[in-house]
This record gives sequence, C-alpha cells and structure tokens, in this order.
Amino acid sequence: MCDEKLRVMALKSYRILDTPSDEDLDLLTQLIARFCEVPVALISLVDKHRQWAKSISGVRIYEETPREMSFCDLAIGGDKIFEVTNTEENDQLRGNPLVTASPNIRFYAGAPLITPSGHKIGALCVLDMVPRQLTSKQRSALLEMSRLVMQRFDMRKEMNLLKDSELQLADLIENTSDLIQSVSPEGLILFANQTWLDTLGYTKSDLPSLNIFEVIHPDCQAHCGSLFQRLMEGEDIGLVDVVFKSKEGCPIALEGRITVRFEDGKPAATRAIFRDVTERKKVQKELEVREARYRGLINNIPGAVYRFSNDDNSHCIYLSPPIKEITGFAPAEFLKGSPTYSSIIYKDDTHPSKGLKMERLRKHEFYDLEYRLIHKNGSIRWVREQGRENPDNANELEGTIFDITEQKMVQHKEAEAKKEAEAANLAKSKFLSRMSHELRTPLHSIIGFSKILQMAELPEKQVRNAKRISHAGEHLLNLINEVLDLSRIEAGEIYSLSENVKIESVIDEVILLVKPMAAEHLIQIVHKTSGHNIQAFVDRQLLLQVLLNLASNGIKYNCHEGTLTFEVMISSSGRARIEVRDSGEGIAKNKLSRLFIPFDRLDVEIDSPDLEGSGLGLSITKKLVEFMGGEITVHSKMGKGSVFAVMFDMAKSDHKASKGIDVPQVKHLEYMHLDPSVTDLASIKILYIEDNQDNVALIEQVIEYRERVKLIVAIQGGQGIDLARQHQPDLIFLDFHLPDINGDEVLQRLLGDKRTRDIPVYMLSADAMPKQIKRLRGLGVADYLTKPLNIDLFLSILDEKLAKKNSG
Ligand code: ADP
Repeated sequence: MCDEKLRVMALKSYRILDTPSDEDLDLLTQLIARFCEVPVALISLVDKHRQWAKSISGVRIYEETPREMSFCDLAIGGDKIFEVTNTEENDQLRGNPLVTASPNIRFYAGAPLITPSGHKIGALCVLDMVPRQLTSKQRSALLEMSRLVMQRFDMRKEMNLLKDSELQLADLIENTSDLIQSVSPEGLILFANQTWLDTLGYTKSDLPSLNIFEVIHPDCQAHCGSLFQRLMEGEDIGLVDVVFKSKEGCPIALEGRITVRFEDGKPAATRAIFRDVTERKKVQKELEVREARYRGLINNIPGAVYRFSNDDNSHCIYLSPPIKEITGFAPAEFLKGSPTYSSIIYKDDTHPSKGLKMERLRKHEFYDLEYRLIHKNGSIRWVREQGRENPDNANELEGTIFDITEQKMVQHKEAEAKKEAEAANLAKSKFLSRMSHELRTPLHSIIGFSKILQMAELPEKQVRNAKRISHAGEHLLNLINEVLDLSRIEAGEIYSLSENVKIESVIDEVILLVKPMAAEHLIQIVHKTSGHNIQAFVDRQLLLQVLLNLASNGIKYNCHEGTLTFEVMISSSGRARIEVRDSGEGIAKNKLSRLFIPFDRLDVEIDSPDLEGSGLGLSITKKLVEFMGGEITVHSKMGKGSVFAVMFDMAKSDHKASKGIDVPQVKHLEYMHLDPSVTDLASIKILYIEDNQDNVALIEQVIEYRERVKLIVAIQGGQGIDLARQHQPDLIFLDFHLPDINGDEVLQRLLGDKRTRDIPVYMLSADAMPKQIKRLRGLGVADYLTKPLNIDLFLSILDEKLAKKNSG
C-alpha cells in the first residue's frame, strides 16, 4: 500500500476528523499563538482531499480548505518546522488564494504532527498577516507543542479503543445466551446480565436488594450453601449443577462454573457463568423414566431380549436378565463370552437354525426359529428365537428368545393323543364295519328266509309268525343302520356337497316317499307352498334324509286321522325355514331337552310299546342339520302337536341350482312295478359267486319264484370267473369275502376279460360301509346290494333283465 494511503488510514484511526472542539487542544493553540506572538495558531489535519482545522485560536481564518490550498500539506513534507517568512516571496505559496485574497496570509510556520508509526497526519501551525520570523525558542516551543498535540491525540485514540472494547464486552455479557452473575461474599447480587434477569424473571431494579439465596431453589439451598462456603475458602469447585427458582417460583436447572475474585487475600466477589439446562434435564429425566420403563418391560417379559453381533461369532452385545431363567447363565456370563450363546445350542440344531437364519438375513427378512438349548443344569430346553438385522446398524442382530419347552411338551402330548384318537377311531371304524358285517350276514338269512316263508303257501298262523320274524329282523337292521349312521356322522365321515337346492322339490320327494306310511295311518299330508320357490344352500341328499326323519316322526307320533304339514318360509334372520308340523299329542315341556339324546325315546317305549323306534332318528337329524350349517328348533304344545323347524342359509348367487339326484328308493319302487307281468318271458342265466351255503340256499329259494331264471353257483372266486367265461350269464351276483380271491379281484378280472366285461356285476355283500360301497361303484359294478338282501329289489333286477332280454 502506498504511503499516502497508509497516512490517511493512520489519520482516520484517530477518529478525530469532524469532531467537536476540544478544550485542552484549544488551550494549546492559544498558548502557542501567544508564545509565538502571532494572531492565529491552529491544528490542521490533512485529509485525502482537504485540510480540516481541529482547533483554531485567534481569527477563524478557515475551518476547512481544499488540499491544494493547504499550507500544512507542505509542512507534512518534512520532519522539521516548515517556515515561510513572507508568502509573497515564496514560489509555492505566492499564488495561493489564502495569500492573494483574505485572509492574506504572509507568515506561516508549521510543525508536523507525527504518529508513533511515523505518519504525518497534519501540522500545528502559526500564521500572521504580516511577514515575520520565529525565534529559535519559539520554534522549539512549536515543535514541543506539536508533540504534545500528538500525545493528546494518541491518548484519545487509546481511550476510544478502550471504550470500544468495553462496549463490546458489555454487549457480549448482556447478549450472551448464558447467565452471568457476580455475588458479594455476603450473598448480594452485584451484577447479573440480561439473560440472567430474563431467565429468572427479574428486572435490574430488583437486583440491589436481592440476595443470591433468595434465588436458589429450596431443594438446592444446602448444596449451594456448601459450594459457596468452599468457594469463599478458595477451593476450585469446577463444573457445578444448581437449581435456581424464578421469581414466579419455577425451578430452573443451571450448569456452569463459579470462581472467586480475591483482593488482598480476601474474597471480593464471585463470578459465575451458567447455562440454562432445564429443558435438557427435563428431556433427560423423561428419557430416564422411559428407559426405566422399557428396561422394566424388557426384564419382565417372559422372554429374553438380545443384541448380537451380525457375524459368524455372533457375540453378545446385550441380553436381558430373563435369559438366566431360560439358560441358567446370567447375561454377564454371555457378555464375557463364557459361554457364548451359540455354544449352548443343541448340537443337532446348530446347523439347521444357523442356515435358516442366514437365508433370512440374506433377504433382509425377519427370522423365526425353534431349536433346543442345553441349560446350565444339563436339561434340554426348547426355545423360539425371532429377530432381524438392526435397522440402524447392519452389524447387529436384535430379537427375542422365548422358552417354549412347555408348549412343545403340550404339542407332543397333543400329537400323541391325536395319534391315539386316530388309532382308536380306526379301531372303532373297523369294529363297526366288522360288527355290521357280522350282524348283517345272519340277518340276511333271517329276513330272507322269513320273506320266503311268507311267500310260501303256509297256514295263516305260520305266515303271521314268519311276518313277525321278518319284522323283528327289519327292526334290528334299521337299528344297525342308524347306529352306523350316527357313528359315521360323529367321526365326520359323511360326504356332502352343498349347492342351491329348491326346497319345495325336496318336500315333494319326501311326500312321495312317506305317502304309503301316511296312508297306512290315515294321516293327511298338506304341503303349503309359498310360491316363492325358496332355495337353500344345502346338500340335497342330506336335506332329504332330515325331512324324511321329521316326516316319519310326524306320522308315527300323530293322532288318528291327523295331519302332517310342510311349509317353507324365510325366517326373520333371512334364512330358509322349513317347518314340519303334526297334530299329534305333542311333547311335554320337561322332556324337550331330552329330545336329541341318542336312544332316549322320552318314555314312549313304556307308554306306547307299539310305536317302534330306536331313539336315534332325531340325534342323527340334528347332527345332519348342523353339519350343513343349519339349526333345528322344536315347539310343542300338549294336545296340539309339534312343530319341528330347520333353518339353512339361503341359496348363494354364485352357485348353480342343483339338478336333483336319482333317488334309489324311487327307482326300486319302479322295479317292483314290473312284477309280475314279466315273469314268464325269455329265460336268463345268473351266476352267484358266494361261499356261504345259507346265502346260496336263500337265493336258490328266491329264484324259485321266477320261472326261466337259471342259477349257476360258484363257491370260490376263481371258479366264478371260469363259470362266467364258460356260461356267459346275463347277470353276476358277487360276494366280497371269498375263500380264494376277494371280490375286488374277481371283479377286476371279469371286467378285464372281453368275454365277461359286458356282463353286469352286482355286488352282494354284508359290508355296508359307505366307503366300500363308493369305492366299488367307482370300479364299475352295476350296483352294490347290501345284506340282508332286499328281496323285492333283487327280484326287480331279475325282472328288468328278463324284460330287456325279451324285448331286445
Ligand atoms: P324314535 O322315533 O326312533 O324313537 P327319534 O330320535 O326320532 O327316535 O325321536 C325321539 C323321541 O322323540 C321319540 O321316541 C318320541 O318320543 C319323540 N318324538 C319325536 N318326534 C315326535 C313328534 N313329532 N311328536 C311327538 N314326539 C316325538
């Protein structure tokens, strides 16, 4: 930077230009004017483009002139006094307007004002309007005086700087966000900054009478008293936490430093700087409370919470206390790595559980593992571990470990129990199937032969006896069927297909089936149609069975010449409701609860022994209704009759309506109509493959009632196949249990041979289990007839074949 620029900067640093007059300086200019015997003396400062007079004594010839007119500019050219005796004789000044015009300066002498750093910022000069010369004394005085002026300038400058820094300090103290205070040894507050006042809600005017202990919170008085004491004794107490209270009484938490200023070895005042940490302490407190709560929660949940490193070592970073309960080892033992958690995992489970965990972690998914641990006491515990990669730190895994040993034991027991139940169920099914088979076989003979006896020309009494035998046999058969039905339902072995079913059409079918029975008891059947053609979402066959049961009860327990009414409606809950009403005696209120109990006949067996039954029909009905998601209700009034109502869901719009199903009973009735008009048509050959002599004898006798039916008997499966090939019978009746090969195989071979495959094969078996019937029907038998044989049905099959053969 050039000298002139530095010089001007030096001048500006004194901050003296354009300032008001200064008495001390004015005195100096007066003194020098008098001493030099001149009318004018002045302190002139040379600015960049002007000269400005700081002090003028005598005639105020100018205050400010342009720099070109400045005499002092010449004076600051050297270090000594610049003196011009007569300006008119001086080449540099002769033309100066101050010379040529008023004030017509003729004499000038100036001593430069030199700063400590050597910059000449102006001059102390004396002037006269007449030529003159200074004495050497006057010159020395002028020089001395110029130094005095400079000293005065320097002093002023220093004072300015001091004031500046004082202002800055005060500004800093007042405007800092910290609380600053000074307290006398007596506790009087000597100073408190604005932040202090604002934070504690005081004003400056409160301070003079305020003692620091009035500001300290009561809970902190003792602590602060001891701190104060220690401070006064000269101890460095370091960082302190104190609690003040605001003027309104609110606690204010502060943190900071307090020191003491000593004078002559005695404490003069404390100086303290604090930071308001109320908010921070509040948050900290909340955090502590929350953390304590979480910790309590973590420690109290039955499982352990963990954080492990996400690497092969899986070392423990944190484990909550319940781990001790689970493993026998305390969290601290795992933290030390003795033992490591992975080392107590049961050997066989280590690899699979780790593999699964890794696989899940690769996909950044949660893992959920079950494995065994070896407890400290040597026992094996089952645990469930669930966890994930820590979302804030992929190097860590976090999760929970629960002891599931009990659960596993229960599961194990349940599985065992289920296995046992399944085995028992299987045994029960086997037993039922066996029992049914064993009972059916003798019943086959009882019912069959008694039927033949009835057909024979015997005395009336004998026929009546035969009828009784046949009746009792049928009753027994009915009972077997119902017991089987019930146990099948209980075992969930019923097959159903729910579809949209037109209820009215099922009722029509029921009426058709029970009509003969109703006619026998002189019961009138009424079918009240709603005309809405209501459809329910049910299994058609099961609904038929339900309504058949209710209808036959309605007839059986009706009064002489009573009525049986069917009505379909939509219930208040929006379901399809079918009512079967009778006009019988009704059911006593106290007996209603026993209605659906198997074998409970509500004492009817005592009161009316003629009314036969097993007491199973309604139990089966209720179970079937519930199986289809429906419900059954009963209302009965003694002497008025009973109303049995069943309710089902209405048809579903996304299902097609049922096409209806062939009802075997109806078909069988049709067979019977063929008899006897077709008996004497073309002859047919039937092959009966059966090893039981009684059964063979029965069929032989039945066939006697049909002319032109020739019977061939085979007592073994293999023999049956040979005879079938040889004789090409029109029909084959096949028993299942044969001494050499079973019925299944015989059937397969017959169907597999082109010589026999077109011959209709009827199974004739005492095995009435639905599974078996369904299976064999699927294999291609013409039909499955169960023992005891329905002789009418058997004859109708023969009749149909005879009719076909004859017409074909
Ligand atoms: P079962 O008719 O074979 O005895 P159910 O289970 O069908 O067995 O009926 C149980 C009992 O409920 C019957 O024995 C009878 O006492 C009574 N019961 C059933 N339906 C009616 C009815 N419509 N009116 C009066 N009593 C009935």
